[in-house]
Amino acid sequence: MLVDTYGRVATDLRVSLTDKCNLRCSYCMPPEGLEWLPGPDLLTDDELVRLVSVAVGLGVTEVRFTGGEPLLRRGLVSIVERVGALSPRPRMQVTTNGIGLAKVAPALAAAGLDRVNVSLDTLDRERFVTLARRDRLVDVLAGLAGAADAGLTPVKVNAVLMRGVNDDEAAPLLRWALGEGYHLRFIEQMPLDAQHGWDRATMVTAEEILASLQAEFDLTPVGEQERGSDPAEEWVVDGGPGKVGVIASVTRPFCGSCDRVRLTADGQLRNCLFAREESDLRGAMRAGASDEELGARMRASLLAKLPGHGIDDPGFLQPTRPMSAIGG
Ligand code: SF4
Repeated sequence: MLVDTYGRVATDLRVSLTDKCNLRCSYCMPPEGLEWLPGPDLLTDDELVRLVSVAVGLGVTEVRFTGGEPLLRRGLVSIVERVGALSPRPRMQVTTNGIGLAKVAPALAAAGLDRVNVSLDTLDRERFVTLARRDRLVDVLAGLAGAADAGLTPVKVNAVLMRGVNDDEAAPLLRWALGEGYHLRFIEQMPLDAQHGWDRATMVTAEEILASLQAEFDLTPVGEQERGSDPAEEWVVDGGPGKVGVIASVTRPFCGSCDRVRLTADGQLRNCLFAREESDLRGAMRAGASDEELGARMRASLLAKLPGHGIDDPGFLQPTRPMSAIGG
């Protein structure tokens, strides 16, 4: 199994399929985009499926495809199909910005995808353009509806609030999500942006998000036992059935029950979102390593996993690799 020295077992593999994206969210990358990973460094579909298969053999039961924007990966549907054919079959999810999802959702569902998380930070078209630097709100909303129609449910929506930008939208977003039957979770902004401009003072905290929601909704906490290793703390809204979640990575870290490990699009294994070291699986694989040797590298990486992200540590250093090349 992929166990670390704190007894945490990694069963949830996040696979970044590309570092490219068709949005330019201000809390993630500059308007001009980034220098993308070189093509030859990217894992081929065969290499990617092989590494996932090795991880499934080591106890991974959940696979989440991320990016950049995973829907930009040409072979996405076939990758889902092939990973779905692994035994034991892992549960499969995609975290996407929703653009193009309306079109591909039926094929993803037919390929065996279980459900989706869609990122959406505002319902205001102008504000969307300011935040994402593209006029694509309509496409994101169509993507959400398309995912629900295709049965990729529960459809989860991830929203990041920024002070003075969209922090007045907590309650409107929740009202909308409840009306649509989507499961909304707010995520505290993390120091993972390419510009290294994250500032704790401007981050909207879980406390603040809850305070704005409680002004309009009656929230009842869902018990810890139900939470398990889910990063989101959950509340039942107005007696249910709707719920809302908050992923408070910074102010209420959940590293103690972390079950996640990440594979980047260029074949590097990261034992933590904030890892400062990576294990080069691509290099080993292309040098002829066997599945056993790749598995041993994965296990070694987990054994080196730190207790947590260390954001509050005086010596904290943001990873050099930006979020867009790590994946959610
Ligand atoms: S910061 Fe690292 S250890 Fe903490 S929950 Fe995220 S991936 Fe796990």
